[in-house]
Amino acid sequence: MHYFQYRGDELYCEDVPVRTIAEDVGTPCYVYSCATLCRHFTVFDEAFKQVPHLTCYSVKANSNVAILKLFGSMGAGVDIVSGGELYRARLAGIPPERIVYSGVGKTVGEIDYALAEDILMFNIESIQELETIDRRASEAGKKARIALRVNPDIDPKTHPYISTGMKKSKFGISMDNAIKTYEKAKNLQNIEITGIDCHIGSQLTELTPFVDALKRLRVIISRLADMGIEIRYLDLGGGLGIPYDQESPPHPHDYAEAVIRELDDLPCTLIFEPGRVIVGNAGILATRVLYIKHGPSKDFVITDAAMNDLVRPSLYGSYHYIQPVAKKARETKVVDVVGPICESGDFLARDRGLPMPARNEYLAVMSAGAYGFSMSSNYNSRPRAAEVLVQGDRYFVIRRRETHEDLVKLETIPEFLQGAGPACG
Ligand SMILES: *Cc1c(COP(=O)(O)O)cnc(C)c1O
Repeated sequence: MHYFQYRGDELYCEDVPVRTIAEDVGTPCYVYSCATLCRHFTVFDEAFKQVPHLTCYSVKANSNVAILKLFGSMGAGVDIVSGGELYRARLAGIPPERIVYSGVGKTVGEIDYALAEDILMFNIESIQELETIDRRASEAGKKARIALRVNPDIDPKTHPYISTGMKKSKFGISMDNAIKTYEKAKNLQNIEITGIDCHIGSQLTELTPFVDALKRLRVIISRLADMGIEIRYLDLGGGLGIPYDQESPPHPHDYAEAVIRELDDLPCTLIFEPGRVIVGNAGILATRVLYIKHGPSKDFVITDAAMNDLVRPSLYGSYHYIQPVAKKARETKVVDVVGPICESGDFLARDRGLPMPARNEYLAVMSAGAYGFSMSSNYNSRPRAAEVLVQGDRYFVIRRRETHEDLVKLETIPEFLQGAGPACG
């Protein structure tokens, strides 16, 4: 069952024509399907129903508070990577006992905030971080629950920028150092060892790297058991891929089956941190064609969405399927789909066969629910796009489009520049 489908020649999100939203809200605009979000979360979560587990949605994939609230209502926890994400999660009512905190550069301010909120655990990425958390916990008169994020040195066979579990990467603590870091943690007064964690990368399309990582973590867990260190939570991170183009990533059921088989009867509560697999294909970016330009060697479709709205193509060379919001017979041409930004790297698609749209037509950039809006910026002083959540035949603006006033509201002109005359010399 798909929730972005043509009815006749019109692309719908659930029971709402995308064109209606584009006309009412304007473009560029992110459109999310509530039914898809729910289904993806449920499919993932229920795949593990036979084992104790907590599904901690990865906030950075799509951080809108309405979406966090939706997942929270379904029993989700969250994986956060900053104080800002903790703030969002708490605002959305996610209970602290369902929050895990990852990331290599937690600041003292962020650590204090997470301690005050009493989150489930910190996923520790270095010895200095461990020591800092111990000191801050002591200061706060608390015990910090922690897991060590282990870097199992496994190639996830994905884009290098989103590979996070190989030796050369900045993430986690190496297999060699894991045991002695746990030993150190055991001796810290204000640290309570609760778990072990890994996250080897994103957009994985095979199961083997997940299973290999789990095998390596199991070796550590049993060595820790010999040392009298009990691991209650086994956090396997996120990373399950989605089809953008021709990929055929494993279904969450197959992922669950492989993980559960490898677990055997390990008495741990599992934690997962899925992001992309839940939200990626639950959202599109609707955009309008501004101009068609016939260059000497290439044709360009110039849209009102740009790399500041959706950076994945520019950043990773990612593929997003692009289709017209209104289908009709037309010739297919190979074009670049580009935005208005003053960078040659500003493109949504390159050398793409596209049914040629006309000026002012709407296009849907598919699979844009993850790492879309959350990676957007104001580059070229472009107000960020609106976000819309569709539920059945209704839709709701869950983030209004930014205005020009929004762009400058945090900026101030110092007094010496406020006069009428030249400020220099
Ligand atoms: C980004 C991230 C995730 C989510 O990854 P997906 O590929 O979107 O599932 C989970 N855990 C950590 C620590 C991350 O950094």
